[in-house]
Amino acid sequence: MVWNLQYEITALILIGLFFVFYNLQRSLPIKKNIIFSDLLMIQFLCIIADIIASVFSSYPEKYGYWHQELANMVYFLSVFAIYYLFMQYCRYLTGDKLKVLVGKQWWISVPFWFAEVICVTNPLTGFLYKVDETGFTRGRFFYEIHPSVIIFYSGVSLALIFHSRKIIPLKEKVSLIFFVFASTTAAMLQFFVFPHLLLINIGCSFSMAICFLSMQNPEFDKDQKTRIYNRDAMFKYLGEKLVFGKRRYRYVGITFQNYGRLRAIYGSGLMDRFLNRFGIYLRKHVDNILPFYLQSGQFLLVLDSKADKDQITYQIREYLDKGFCFDGQKVNPKPKFIYMSDECDAKDGHEVYDILKFSLKQIEKDESNDLREIDDRFLAELHYSIKVKDALHRAVDEDALIVYYQPIYDSMIGAFSSAEALVRIEDPELGVIPPAAFISLAEEDGTILKLGNQVLRKVCRFISEHDLDAMGLKYIEINLSPIQCMNRNLASEIIEVANEFGIDMSYLNFEITETAKLDIRELNALMDSLIGEGSGFSLDDYGTGFSNLVNVLKLPFDIVKIDKSVVWSYFDGNDIVLPRLISMFAEDEFGIVAEGAETDHMQQTLQEMGCDYIQGFYFSKPIPEVNFVEFIKDRNRLGRHPAFE
Ligand code: C2E
Ligand code: MG
Ligand code: MG
Repeated sequence: MVWNLQYEITALILIGLFFVFYNLQRSLPIKKNIIFSDLLMIQFLCIIADIIASVFSSYPEKYGYWHQELANMVYFLSVFAIYYLFMQYCRYLTGDKLKVLVGKQWWISVPFWFAEVICVTNPLTGFLYKVDETGFTRGRFFYEIHPSVIIFYSGVSLALIFHSRKIIPLKEKVSLIFFVFASTTAAMLQFFVFPHLLLINIGCSFSMAICFLSMQNPEFDKDQKTRIYNRDAMFKYLGEKLVFGKRRYRYVGITFQNYGRLRAIYGSGLMDRFLNRFGIYLRKHVDNILPFYLQSGQFLLVLDSKADKDQITYQIREYLDKGFCFDGQKVNPKPKFIYMSDECDAKDGHEVYDILKFSLKQIEKDESNDLREIDDRFLAELHYSIKVKDALHRAVDEDALIVYYQPIYDSMIGAFSSAEALVRIEDPELGVIPPAAFISLAEEDGTILKLGNQVLRKVCRFISEHDLDAMGLKYIEINLSPIQCMNRNLASEIIEVANEFGIDMSYLNFEITETAKLDIRELNALMDSLIGEGSGFSLDDYGTGFSNLVNVLKLPFDIVKIDKSVVWSYFDGNDIVLPRLISMFAEDEFGIVAEGAETDHMQQTLQEMGCDYIQGFYFSKPIPEVNFVEFIKDRNRLGRHPAFE
């Protein structure tokens, strides 16, 4: 028989290209990638063996028996291996569901090894094929063995895909299903409809090309800036090694001191060039590690058993100490290292990531640059923060945030004329959680938008249910996070809520903390719209940050709140700037609130210095709504605070 080779030649070119391209790049050392690389290699071998066997079979008199026998044997060995390996590929991709599906795993390989033994013993039995002076003919049990093995492994692959359909991304699912159908259909057509056409390899090669393009391109696992593996690759790698391999590793995390500020000063282009240089260095010059880039200037090094953490950190520090020069600009990022020993026993990549991210954030604030080890204190803080995050999401979703109120004393009239709304979470396990524990978490994941809205609604409801004028209160102060202020619809959302509760906007005063994140023009627009409706604005936490302050003070704030740290420094005798600050703001006609008055002496001195308003534990801590109403009615009825009587 003369075989039609055109499909084989096409498959050879296609797989040849992918084989070379795939092997020229580094791919993440996980089972799925190793199996795919083996699949490409065996597919390549299979096509070559098939072409050679077909040529030999076309000219049997020229090539003789053993040449034909050997070429066919290699072809059959590899064709069975392709379907078997693809099933293994699905197995690792679907999180090894094989155990669930088939109980004990060993027998799943039996048909494959049986078929391989048939191939090797074929010269004696002729079960699969026969070669003689007329060329190749199908053997006695060809139709029992070949289609059955293919259908068996395609069936198992399909069952695995189906069983894991919820965890496999759509793109990957489609490629895998395509593989099963295309490779099986091609085989069945070749067996039963077009015996002279060699369709199996073209079917498998096309399917592999699709798998490559949709999920096997090594670029998917790499970070574009640093050219080392990215965070998702880290999850995959550690997922496999820790979950399935039950391995334990040691890790070194790297972050850079003031990374955000360095990016703001030198620009993202220059910092990306630095990251690229550093990534290449880690990959090429630091031995016994597998480096990953976690974003935001943070790296994770997975250490192998030979790695010495002290030697590695010393080597990296020495490399970075020299500094870098790009286009005449010198940058000198200072690294900070954290070490996580194998005793931490993280269960998967996500846990390693959470522990590391949290610890890196903690050490960014440290003065010391020594290698810090993740200890029980770090882990306890991390576990607390995870619980707080859960409690936060629960409280936000269930409308269960609690608003406390802290009265603000008006020293001009000698009574309480306003209050600050301060959010709390009351958790059955953790008790009352203060905002310092969850506001930054809420800002990180965007929950702050819902949180802010809920606090606003609760304050508006409170105002609508109480006669603020009769209580002697001018307004309630609400904290706005910078993240909320970036929302262009914030003003209209606030007005809408106030209208819904039928309250006058002049009962609301908004506190904003100045940060570099805020765009002054957008903030101005937000303030103008709300001031137009009758609300006022206070600049919160004055004295804790100084960037852009000149511009900030041009904004239409009517009150400046001096942060408690500035007040405390003055009373501790560490800083004498407070009286000058107060007279400066008074001259500019800002109302002044001093926070943090804890003693009678403090509040009296602050009044004498000219503070219009005083807020502090001396008068009251932030208290729940009911207690606050009682407190105000009780104290303001007297017209004066009892401390002055
Ligand atoms: P803040 O806006 O500066 O609020 C004043 C903080 O100082 C409150 O802490 C208050 O309890 C505390 N404080 C006032 N006087 C004294 C004092 O005499 N001694 C001491 N030790 N502390 C005093 P709190 O309630 O823990 O709030 C912390 C921060 O959380 C607030 O600082 C504010 O930035 C933020 N926050 C609170 N509620 C909200 C909210 O609803 N939204 C947003 N975005 N942030 C909020
Ligand atoms: Mg405030
Ligand atoms: Mg404040």
